[in-house]
Amino acid sequence: MRKILTVALAGVLAATMLFAGCSKKEEAAIPEKIIVGTNAEFPPFEYVDDNKKIDGFDIAMMKEIAKRMDVKIEIKNMEFKSLIGSLESKTINAVAAGMTKDPERMEAVDFSDSYYTSSQVMIVKKDSKLKKMTELKGKKVGVQEGTTGDKLATGENFGEKQKPVVKGVDVRRFPKGVNAVMDLKNGGVDAVVIDEKPAMEFVKNNKGLKIVRDKAAEEYYCIALPKGNEKLVKEINKQLKAMKEDGTLDKLKAKYIDK
Ligand code: GLN
Repeated sequence: MRKILTVALAGVLAATMLFAGCSKKEEAAIPEKIIVGTNAEFPPFEYVDDNKKIDGFDIAMMKEIAKRMDVKIEIKNMEFKSLIGSLESKTINAVAAGMTKDPERMEAVDFSDSYYTSSQVMIVKKDSKLKKMTELKGKKVGVQEGTTGDKLATGENFGEKQKPVVKGVDVRRFPKGVNAVMDLKNGGVDAVVIDEKPAMEFVKNNKGLKIVRDKAAEEYYCIALPKGNEKLVKEINKQLKAMKEDGTLDKLKAKYIDK
């Protein structure tokens, strides 16, 4: 009797362990729903459209990835600087926000393969004589808080290639890029440092401004994912690769970015 009981107990214990092991694995693997964090203030990658819907290249790309993975998708709009923390606290399980792969961010998150190459530019008033990033020294420069443009203006490394280019900048941080651009228009800051394509959108929509390109290093947009979920990174990379190879990513670029 005693022996039977022991065996039975051992069986229950083994089953419990197996079950626990399973649920742990489930949590770590592919989620049933991809909850994508973004900051819909970064056209053409993400923005709120005329129907108050969040759209843009990143959104369309993530929807296609979710469709191919046969999982649901939800988009959560938040401040750019909150995205990494939300990924860490599991409020979201992916970030698609024109986010540059960056060593400092990689301490907290993992990144997919890159889906877009960008660089920082300056937006200035049309009559500005500014030509080089180094000339920003001593100037008031508007940036979106927590971005690589913020890091550049602050004199830090960022991305995988950018070394500090300028020191001694009076950095003014704004929650949205467009706020920085408005401040530039109103005579507040002397320049805005921001990613090239959004800069082009802002200049297109605001008369009296121009873009100045200096030799900023390339930076690579990647999807940020929870740290340590190798399976998810692999799966996302598989879908990205297929979408590069079958022309889907190029089609989305033509539709949203190079219109
Ligand atoms: N590429 C920049 C970064 O990763 C800006 C992204 C953004 O403002 N959405 O910091």
